[in-house]
Amino acid sequence: MHNRDAVFLDELCPKLRVRRWRQSLHIYTGKSCIYCGKPSESIDHILPRARGGLSVTENCVPACLSCNGHKSDADVFDWYRRQRFYDPRRAMAIRAWMDGDLRLALRLLQWAHPQDASLPKPDGGMELSFQPA
Ligand SMILES: [Zn+2]
Repeated sequence: MHNRDAVFLDELCPKLRVRRWRQSLHIYTGKSCIYCGKPSESIDHILPRARGGLSVTENCVPACLSCNGHKSDADVFDWYRRQRFYDPRRAMAIRAWMDGDLRLALRLLQWAHPQDASLPKPDGGMELSFQPA
């Protein structure tokens, strides 16, 4: 398939685009939860949708179902500080992610998990689309 066809398909199928966007988020953290490092099974809205949080990359992070469920409507940093798996490097990564600096976020995650080979390299030229729709 040509690249142009793919773009065309995306425009025809917003659902497909959202799915690709969500997958790209998971790939970015090596399919691990940004909070605890377990396999990411969902996308967590840092600011919950119920409180006006948008479905944009800066507000959406890969999370395991446990973290996603526990956090619910709490402020992300208030909640995160109280967790046993709290890691200040991950907290900084979440902050960088919210600022839209995914490269910095990725570096901080690698720092927190230096042995995790599944994380993409920060300078691998990876592109992320910032808007799901
Ligand atoms: Zn988790």
